[in-house]
Amino acid sequence: MGIIVDIDKCTGCGKCYEVCPKGPRIWKIENQNGSRKASIIDEGYCINCSTCASFCPAHAIKINWQ
Ligand code: SF4
Ligand code: SF4
Repeated sequence: MGIIVDIDKCTGCGKCYEVCPKGPRIWKIENQNGSRKASIIDEGYCINCSTCASFCPAHAIKINWQ
C-alpha cells in the first residue's frame, strides 16, 4: 500500500483531506472504535505529492510509492 496512516498517531483532524489535491476521492474521516480517524477510500487517485504527509500535525502519514 502506498499511503500508510499510523492510526495510533492519527487524531482525525482532517488536514490530510483538506490539503490533498484529490482529498474527497482519497480520504475519509470517520469514526473508528469511538474516535475520529483518517482512512483511505481509493489510493489510486494519489499523485505522490507528499502534501498530506507534510501537513499532518501528528506525523501519522507515510507515502511509500516505489
Ligand atoms: S492529517 Fe494526520 S492526524 Fe489529521 S486526520 Fe489526517 S492522518 Fe490523521
Ligand atoms: S501524496 Fe498527495 S495526492 Fe497522495 S494522498 Fe497525499 S496529498 Fe493526496
